[in-house]
Amino acid sequence: MEAMKEMVEQELGELRQTFASGRTRSMKWRKRQLSAIIEMVKEKEDEICKALFQDLGKHPTEAYRDELVKGKVISEPLGTVLIMSSWNLPISLCLDPLIGAISAGSTVMLKPSELSPNASSFLAKTIPTYLDSKAIKVMEGGPDISTVLLQHKWDKIFFTGSQKVGRIVMSAAAQHLTPVTLELGGKCPTILDDRSISGDIKTAVKRISGGKWGFCSGQVCVAVDYLLIEQRFASSLIDMMKQTIKSFYGENPKDSGCISKIVNKNHFFRLSRFLNDPHIKASIVHGGFTDEEKLIDIEPTILLDPPLDSEIMTEEIFGPIFQLLHQLRDIQESVEFVRSRPKPLALYVFTKDNNLKTRILSETSSGSVTFNDVMIQSICEALPFGGVGESGMGRYHGQYSYECFSHEKAVVEGNLAVELEARYPPWTTYKLSF
Ligand code: NAD
Repeated sequence: MEAMKEMVEQELGELRQTFASGRTRSMKWRKRQLSAIIEMVKEKEDEICKALFQDLGKHPTEAYRDELVKGKVISEPLGTVLIMSSWNLPISLCLDPLIGAISAGSTVMLKPSELSPNASSFLAKTIPTYLDSKAIKVMEGGPDISTVLLQHKWDKIFFTGSQKVGRIVMSAAAQHLTPVTLELGGKCPTILDDRSISGDIKTAVKRISGGKWGFCSGQVCVAVDYLLIEQRFASSLIDMMKQTIKSFYGENPKDSGCISKIVNKNHFFRLSRFLNDPHIKASIVHGGFTDEEKLIDIEPTILLDPPLDSEIMTEEIFGPIFQLLHQLRDIQESVEFVRSRPKPLALYVFTKDNNLKTRILSETSSGSVTFNDVMIQSICEALPFGGVGESGMGRYHGQYSYECFSHEKAVVEGNLAVELEARYPPWTTYKLSF
């Protein structure tokens, strides 16, 4: 058993290493491997037939049997689906998947988030008055009701939320072999290659700052989480970011009226806990103010190089805290950094260097890559939206939403007017040689 475990680990390690080397991504490699399969099947035909005969008693003629068929694909709705949603965009994160499910022809149970109770009760009250209430239902509540819903068999579960609850949803779905789309979160890295965009650096800093603080105080799955820069650029960047924050919110951000509140006490204390950790406190270079009384206020905050193994660097922030990592001697090292961490939902790269762009596309994996901007990928309906690895599975938006709730059924139309006797035994023309 130990030897077997070791063997599996060794083989798996080699596969991962080969994948990491990037070799399997080249078109040349893929074509070569596919041609090799054709070659193998041709050259080893006899051995294949022999193995099939020995294992299954199959006559070799079966291998050559052909059929006159017409094929097509028709989409059918998956059936009755469960949509569970998050609170940070509480209307659109319910309506977007709902549109996909309805356009595919499915019936829907929609479970909005209990953390945005007003949006949730609006949907529960309003949807039945506009839509067919026998086909689309809204069920309000939190984990209790979700738990009950998840005990049932659905034809699809579409979940938007955290990785932690995503695991609960997926394991409940597995009991019924229900397919899932998981729209999760994680940390979205941003890379700023200041040398190549020096003329546009102000625009870049503004966009990055907007992508951190300008949307629901950073409580967005595709918000900028941390920024990678070269060492020498840190102090001028911090100055520029401070200026940008001032231009957004004035001298007293909390009085600006432009800062969304932290959704509830739990999230407020989660974020405050990050900031109260002595290691993190030492890395604050801007902000850090929290207002426990009002709960809403966590000032736009910048951290410089928090410890890489700290909770704030391993957990999704989902709040107005920004981390600046400046240990890179060369911006190209950012590719390795991103690769060494879980696959993000979104990756943002500010650069005009085509070599860096190519490396990002071919050597990293993420739900999406956006060059020289932030967050716009999620409003481009022509693009699929979804994560990869721990940031999620499945995709939606536009046409992809329809596909997400459909089954593509293969339909074959046989031709009864033509019959090939060679389809059936006895197969006498081919003599067995083994
Ligand atoms: P969450 O996982 O806590 O809650 C999501 C849903 O799961 C809610 O409807 C909630 O009622 C339900 N739920 C909570 N605990 C449960 C449990 N124990 N058992 C069963 N159901 C449970 O997430 P959240 O706080 O609503 O949202 C924040 C997370 O969602 C972040 O990680 C963020 O990145 C992610 N998110 C992702 C996207 C995306 O499109 N990829 C969009 C928004 C938010």
